Amino acid sequence: MSEDKSLNFIEEIVEADLNSGKYQSILTRFPPEPNGYLHIGHAKSICLNFGLAKKYGGKTNLRFDDTNPSTEETEYVESIKDDVKWLGFDWAEELYASNYFEQIYSFAVKLMEKGLAYVDDSSSETIAQEKGTPTQPGIENIYRSRTVAENIQLFADMRAGKYQDGEKVVRAKIDMASSNMHLRDPIIYRIKHAHHHRTGDAWCIYPMYDFAHGQSDSIENITHSICTLEFIPHRPLYDWCIENLQIFPSKQYEFARLNMTYTVMSKRKLLQLVNENHVNGWDDPRMSTISAMRRRGYPPESIREFCDKIGVAKRENLIDFSLLEFCVRERLNKTALRRMVVFDPLKIVITNYPNTTELLESENNPEDISTGTRTIPFSNTIFVEQEDFMEIAPKKYFRLSPGQMVRLKSAYIIKCDEVIKDIEGHVTELHCSYIPESKSGSDTSGINVKGTLQWVNAATATKIEIRLYDRLFKVEDVANAEGDFKDYINQDSLQIIANGYAEPALKTDNPYMAFQFIRKGYFVVDRDSTKDQLVFNRTVSLKDGWAKEAKKA
Ligand code: ATP
Ligand code: MG
Repeated sequence: MSEDKSLNFIEEIVEADLNSGKYQSILTRFPPEPNGYLHIGHAKSICLNFGLAKKYGGKTNLRFDDTNPSTEETEYVESIKDDVKWLGFDWAEELYASNYFEQIYSFAVKLMEKGLAYVDDSSSETIAQEKGTPTQPGIENIYRSRTVAENIQLFADMRAGKYQDGEKVVRAKIDMASSNMHLRDPIIYRIKHAHHHRTGDAWCIYPMYDFAHGQSDSIENITHSICTLEFIPHRPLYDWCIENLQIFPSKQYEFARLNMTYTVMSKRKLLQLVNENHVNGWDDPRMSTISAMRRRGYPPESIREFCDKIGVAKRENLIDFSLLEFCVRERLNKTALRRMVVFDPLKIVITNYPNTTELLESENNPEDISTGTRTIPFSNTIFVEQEDFMEIAPKKYFRLSPGQMVRLKSAYIIKCDEVIKDIEGHVTELHCSYIPESKSGSDTSGINVKGTLQWVNAATATKIEIRLYDRLFKVEDVANAEGDFKDYINQDSLQIIANGYAEPALKTDNPYMAFQFIRKGYFVVDRDSTKDQLVFNRTVSLKDGWAKEAKKA
């Protein structure tokens, strides 16, 4: 974070709390429910919570809000931990709301003792009906006047497993006429005979989110509990619980969630994409999950930079996916090693080149000379990209066409002398001649050419698979598009090039490195690679193809 940047509204609050002496240091938390993989929206929350603590010398807990046993799994817990670490953050403590089940139970008993909670036998339909509407007050039912002793006994019976799911609930006794629906005797406990990923079968009653989240914050002495805007109407209940339980006064602050173009971010929708095989798992590189972005080659620094750039707002908006890609490009330009790869080969025979192999030198990354150089074999038979040749070329075409010269990157200038075709008239190879004095780095030819092409030496090329990704959705604002969001899936979002030809360096390169395939984009090795064939994901193209599309339209 740069020093001269103005503070966001949460930083202002934190600074005020520190300056006034309200707190000596701050403690924040990142509280995912382990019911799915984290997405880029969570990254914003992570950067905010951990970033605040880092900036102000405080700490951040990683707390799993695991109060819903039917949707939560250990697999998700592990992936969440991996993602937070990968993003570059360390938590002070790894905690689980389920650690506090006993304490939260006693909080409910305490409310009952104070006459502030009761066991309700009504059906969920009746409860909903009696709740009223935003313009009509609710109705107080007969169970509301149960005695303290009766409530405590029934609650113990609920815990002991005497009742079936849905037979009874516990509600906070607040105000059935409140203008805030969340204060109309909200349910705080329900019966659920389900196996929990951590507490197993120890419990058959579980606290509701609103009776677990704030309480967990208090138990941990969280100073600033940061969540997204939809929790604004929950805040009075958050404060009510703290006040009536007389526990640590954590404070809730809300910021606008991140929404991004051409993607979805709700875990429910992401789960649908996975379960219905629209993508190949949670970390399919087209997904908006952090694990997908990691697999696709997005550097964690770029995601942090992106979160910093979008800032922390109080009003929701839609952020352009291109901004994230811009951050990715900016970083990779500085770090990615340059390599030459041909996707769709056209054979070139250099007729005046001797029948030997020469080892050429080329820089790994002109943006960072400390990365050194690599050797690239060169001979009289090479491949260039099919699309870099045109038999009948327009005027300003600076690539290969009959009679035209181009530079082969880090090698020589060649001239296209002859086009060889098969009997059907398809171009099968080009015969070219090279200019011996034009070698890159020691060019004395005096010839200026406008086009430079990437190429690979045919005899030493290694075959690789390349996966090109496009937006997973065809519309900008997927969440607000009419009808089913899956109707907007871009069916052409994955293109596989089964046989790309790469320079041999890629075979021995560190597979964790980022690469720039010259003129093609940034790439990273995928975990589907085998001993015999490397598979590469395109992280991002070199230029923003979508900005160009938008201009055309
Ligand atoms: P989803 O709606 O995608 O399922 P969630 O809010 O239910 O997300 P949680 O696991 O409860 O997911 O979220 C953990 C934290 O991340 C919460 O504090 C939540 O507010 C925050 N968060 C979730 N989505 C976003 C988002 N798009 N932008 C910013 N913060 C988010
Ligand atoms: Mg949630």
